[in-house]
Amino acid sequence: MASSQLLTAPTASSDLQTEVLVLGAGMSGLCMGIELKQAGIDDFIIVEKQAGIGGTWWDNIYPGAHVDLPAPLYCFSFAPNSKWRQRFAAASEIQSYMERCSSHYGLLPHLRLNTKVETASFDEDTGTWVIQLSGPNGLQRVRTRFFICSTGPLSQVRWPSISGFETFSGRRLHSARWDQTYSAKGQRIAVIGTGSTGCQLIPKLAEEAKHLYVFQRTPNWIMPRLDRPYTFLDRVLANFPPYANSVRGFWYYFMELSRHGFTHGTVMRSIMMSTASYHLKRQVTDPLLREKLTPPYPMGCKRIIFSSDYYPAICKRNVSLVTIPIDHLTPSSIVTADGAERLVDTVVCATGFETTRLLSQLEIKGLSGRSLRDVWSDTPEAYLGVAVADFPNMFFLLGPNTATGHTSTLLYIEPQARHILNCIKVVRQGGYRWICVRREAQSAYNQALQQRLTNSVWSTCTSWYRNKSGRIVMLWPGTTPEYVKLLQENNSSGYFFMAS
Ligand code: NAP
Repeated sequence: MASSQLLTAPTASSDLQTEVLVLGAGMSGLCMGIELKQAGIDDFIIVEKQAGIGGTWWDNIYPGAHVDLPAPLYCFSFAPNSKWRQRFAAASEIQSYMERCSSHYGLLPHLRLNTKVETASFDEDTGTWVIQLSGPNGLQRVRTRFFICSTGPLSQVRWPSISGFETFSGRRLHSARWDQTYSAKGQRIAVIGTGSTGCQLIPKLAEEAKHLYVFQRTPNWIMPRLDRPYTFLDRVLANFPPYANSVRGFWYYFMELSRHGFTHGTVMRSIMMSTASYHLKRQVTDPLLREKLTPPYPMGCKRIIFSSDYYPAICKRNVSLVTIPIDHLTPSSIVTADGAERLVDTVVCATGFETTRLLSQLEIKGLSGRSLRDVWSDTPEAYLGVAVADFPNMFFLLGPNTATGHTSTLLYIEPQARHILNCIKVVRQGGYRWICVRREAQSAYNQALQQRLTNSVWSTCTSWYRNKSGRIVMLWPGTTPEYVKLLQENNSSGYFFMAS
């Protein structure tokens, strides 16, 4: 039976037909496109609401934006990049890398930019998704067999809910919606938020601002960033696979080793904690300021920050660290709970993303018209992070509980894309109408996952990994090889197939 009124209408001749629709042209969407191409599946489109590819790297173009782990790990294993200019690559370098990959792997004809998915409903009779798009040519209905969502957890910006915020008459900027024409020169700026983004942005703004007020709610654990520029020789050597592979391999194992630092009582944890403490002590000599910057929660609970210029920026004469909570905003100032008022021209929000309400802006209806928004609410859950019961022929990249606290997200994207591709192949080769994850498999997987997360370091503070009730819905607790093995082992055992 068709699951919505929309679906009961016969397919209009103007409907676009495609085998696979990928939503989102960030790293994960592009990786999926490349895997499809390599497998000889050419009939797919990648839909992206922005005017260009890049996803989070298209959005995050604030001053100082860069990847917070060594760049040799921030490229696909099958497409090493010999053009990195520094170990912690800038956002613009990553954007260029993605553009080169899109072109090299022939993805450009598959891209539908400036196009949004409005609704998606599964048609049980035909085993296809009916997807309403809105784009440069108005509304268009697409029928696709497989629907792959690769929007990731960092796509919906979170503005702070502070009294009077809307009444502020100066500039209001969010780090992920940066206005590149903005100049900080001579401005009195307030930055709200000191997470990974704030710590990258603050040193750059401090270089130009007349005065920078940093509103810190929770101080974070910060490790030195072992950055260095890549020389001409580095770039030449990076073209030789044995060299490139050994550099990547080194960082891979180094980061995997750091996973032990998230477990209480390990030697790695002691090393990481003393490194961070020494870093703070060395860079901040004022004991009062140091105390304000000392994290009150166990290391690793929130994402560990790698920065060598954040503490020096905080120590600058034109920078004030404000730790008294914000009470409200007036049209021209920020007033803290102690009644102090600070006049500012610009409020910059580095307040992160709505991570737990994944895809909530979309109306996605699966079997019997079940809405993904209702099924998930703010507790998204999936089998292996890639599939959800009652949503056949639909997959996720960077879905629930697949973010990593210790290494590159690309190491998770690639095996997910391969897992999804294998599921697609099984359906196509077996002549099935659809594939869907078994409810029991999804429950068992998530029960074990949540059990493992209980009492883990990530359960000891609030963070974007957790929903309002405290459940950790974003993070994968194990090592990378462990997750990869799960994806390989469970290629079809957790699923059932509907015959045509
Ligand atoms: P975030 O980690 O969620 O940090 C948001 C910050 O805003 C926190 O300091 C938070 O304080 C503060 N905040 C939120 N609402 C507030 C309010 N109403 N009043 C005062 N402070 C408020 O967001 P993010 O820094 O954008 O980073 C998100 C993730 O993006 C990172 O963890 C990382 O995975 C990713 N990222 C990656 C890179 C990269 O290079 N790959 C770069 C940047 C970001 P509390 O801690 O008290 O909540």
